[in-house]
Amino acid sequence: MFWIYVGKGKAVLHMARCEDCNFGLGKSGSVDLSGKWEGPFELVEDVRPPQELKLKPCPKCQPLVDR
Ligand SMILES: [Zn+2]
Repeated sequence: MFWIYVGKGKAVLHMARCEDCNFGLGKSGSVDLSGKWEGPFELVEDVRPPQELKLKPCPKCQPLVDR
């Protein structure tokens, strides 16, 4: 599964098991007020980033490499 983190002017694609994503809970396990998580998406092809935002893959979990 995949999640995207939407913050100020950016959207980052994560694997659900990524430590930064933590299945949409974030690293701290609490709500991060600087952005929000959207998901889960079953397939990366299903991911629809918010308009005007370029979706970047997370460098830690490398969602487009390690599937
Ligand atoms: Zn990640």
